Amino acid sequence: MNRNRSSSFTTTKYGTMSRYSNNKIDSFSENEDTVPIGSLNILSAKYESLDYEVVENFVYRDEERKKGYQYVVKKNFVRWIIFFWIGVITATVGIIIDLSIENIADFKFSHVKQYIEECNQKNCLWRPYILLLVYNVVPVLIGSTLVAYVEPVALGSGIPQVKCYLNGIKIPRLVRIKTLFIKVIGVITTVVGGMCGGKEGPMIHAGAVIAAGISQGKSTTFNKDFGVLNYFREDNEKRDFVSGGAAAGVAAAFGSPVGGVLFSLEEGASFWNQGLTWRIFFASMISTFTLNVVLSAYHGHPGELTYWGLLNFGKFNNFALSYEIFELPIFVIMGIIGGLTGALFCHLNYKLTVFRMRHLVSRWKKVLEAILVCCSTATVGFLLMLWRNDCKPSGLDPTKYAVQLNCNDGEYNYMASLWLQVPEASVRSFFHDPEESLDVATLVYFAIAYYLLTIWTYGLSVSAGLFIPCLATGAAWGRLIGIGVQFIFPGADVGKYALIGAASQLGGAVRMTISLTVILIEATGNITFGLPLMICLLTAKWIGDYFTESIYDIHIQLSGIPLMAWDPPPLSSNIYANEVMSHPVAVFKSKETVGQIIDTLKTYTYNGFPVVDGIFNLDSEESYCNNYKPNGRLRGLILRSQLIVLLQNKVFNEVPSAWDNVSLTTFRQDYPRYSNIDSIEILESERHYTIDLLRFMNPSPYIVQHMASLPRIFRLFRAMGLRHIVVVNDSNEVVGMVTRKDLTRYRVWRHRGTLGVVELRISAK
Ligand code: ATP
Repeated sequence: MNRNRSSSFTTTKYGTMSRYSNNKIDSFSENEDTVPIGSLNILSAKYESLDYEVVENFVYRDEERKKGYQYVVKKNFVRWIIFFWIGVITATVGIIIDLSIENIADFKFSHVKQYIEECNQKNCLWRPYILLLVYNVVPVLIGSTLVAYVEPVALGSGIPQVKCYLNGIKIPRLVRIKTLFIKVIGVITTVVGGMCGGKEGPMIHAGAVIAAGISQGKSTTFNKDFGVLNYFREDNEKRDFVSGGAAAGVAAAFGSPVGGVLFSLEEGASFWNQGLTWRIFFASMISTFTLNVVLSAYHGHPGELTYWGLLNFGKFNNFALSYEIFELPIFVIMGIIGGLTGALFCHLNYKLTVFRMRHLVSRWKKVLEAILVCCSTATVGFLLMLWRNDCKPSGLDPTKYAVQLNCNDGEYNYMASLWLQVPEASVRSFFHDPEESLDVATLVYFAIAYYLLTIWTYGLSVSAGLFIPCLATGAAWGRLIGIGVQFIFPGADVGKYALIGAASQLGGAVRMTISLTVILIEATGNITFGLPLMICLLTAKWIGDYFTESIYDIHIQLSGIPLMAWDPPPLSSNIYANEVMSHPVAVFKSKETVGQIIDTLKTYTYNGFPVVDGIFNLDSEESYCNNYKPNGRLRGLILRSQLIVLLQNKVFNEVPSAWDNVSLTTFRQDYPRYSNIDSIEILESERHYTIDLLRFMNPSPYIVQHMASLPRIFRLFRAMGLRHIVVVNDSNEVVGMVTRKDLTRYRVWRHRGTLGVVELRISAK
């Protein structure tokens, strides 16, 4: 079959100019063979969509008729129970991560401190340096090897992948238990290994895996089906649980239940409803509460409940976070700085990621790079400790591992205390340490070193998040600005500026606005400071967006994932369905032969097929020449997965006994991994048998008229979380097919304030 498009693209020396140029937005796309690895202009065909649409076929209605209201009540009740356990288990995983890091890091830093103090006198500082290297390299080697060799999808924080899942894209192995194990070990080893990474971001991924795991009543990793919760084995149900898991992860990580709900809302708003909001909020609250109870008890004050989240900003007093009108412009300027440094961060990390994609492909090279970065981080930290003799009187600073390194008796080296603690503790130091304890040069060196090391670390084959390193960098330069402000207006609190700097830096890199503002408000526990936080985050986002995409979006685009944007491309109302659709369409008759179904499934990789009456031959010369020759009158839409189940169970019209056993459970049995068409055994004699597709197809799929505009189709996809839309003509005859990839091909492209629309290529890779 020839797939053909009717859009008015013309080829130029730059590639393909889109018809948008008529609307004054110029765009071009590269030719597929010239698209280099690491191009932002390709969509990978290997990413499939999730099916959020409920197929209300005869089987579905049958089930609903038989089960009655009792079933609805039971299902709802079970839903709440599952959300409860999502909260509890997510918090438990958070506690395991937190306590492991705390105890291992405690052991490491006290040992290194002891060596530094001994060698400070004896001139043998190479010994603690080697010790630090060993303590860092061993865990990083373990974590990185696991990520590179066992489960690469556990890389990084997992936030971009969870974002894609909520957007409607199947990311292979993302929500498996095995991925969770690797992630947990990976995060612990990365943070303990002294790398610029945090444990908070990965909690979102951990929550998502836990939710997907316990809601399905089976585990692929352990090859175990408990035979329960069958009714939740559908993409739309699973997605709701995953949103709850992600929210519970945010809640546990930052002690921010509302931020968790908003995170899920921000990433997957297309399917929001009131019931789901309640359940997600419930899971988030349970998660925060569980974490709080256990950690408070662990730290010896069970009744107080003071450990709201893994990330602890420490206590700001009300005076510290009060502000005056004249300070607002300063916050805006800090937002601008955060936006600029965030954009530079994204750009440099993008270049580095492209380099990695081209040259660091083999797994051993990835592990080697992680080790190199780990050693460099330790070396930079150690050199800064030796070089910068920032001596302060002992007792000034609450640091646990104060060392005297190159200082007089009764003093400690402040730079050393910043590096001999987990990055989170450094963030707290910038927020709360007394004004005299930090001087300008220490802050400058720390901010620059941490900024560059974080750029190098993000994207390595290790599991760790970006939040803490960004907060640490921003808090350092924010405090620096605070010192400047204090110089002009004595009495200003430097910790407040450190907080704004931290928020601006993070906002400039990740560009999450609503949820991040609320997360930071909840983490600081001060609502009145919400406005300054929002101002700096919005400014950082606007400035950052002017130059680059967010760091998450860059990584998503580099992977070629067809993520649906929030809004349709601008000025696209003059583009019609018949310009974006594929045609002719691979369709089935309502009563189709087994042979034809098998041949079609083997020929095409499509996952959705319209079911029609009055089909004509798609391969005929006539159909090829006439682009709009309709494929017959639309009756419904059938999915590849449904056809596979029908073939596997031999639900043929000629075998009446097979019909008795078909129910929704038959279709849920293999969810979410259905057999491949090549593995289905059909006898030659069965090829002439027929299947009545009317009974199993979706009888009312979403359709649009061929003259529907691109923004309308886009909004329908976005709001309903669709996978396919059938395009019909005035007589309800099928003329085309539109999928997520057809729409995500049109990407808004910004470069230094210029707006354009680039048309992406779909690559098989
Ligand atoms: P997904 O991969 O999102 O799960 P899918 O496999 O059905 O869905 P895509 O991979 O998005 O479809 O489709 C790739 C291209 O094939 C798109 O341009 C789409 O319009 C086209 N296409 C999809 N289904 C059909 C079909 N039944 N007949 C003809 N073209 C189709």
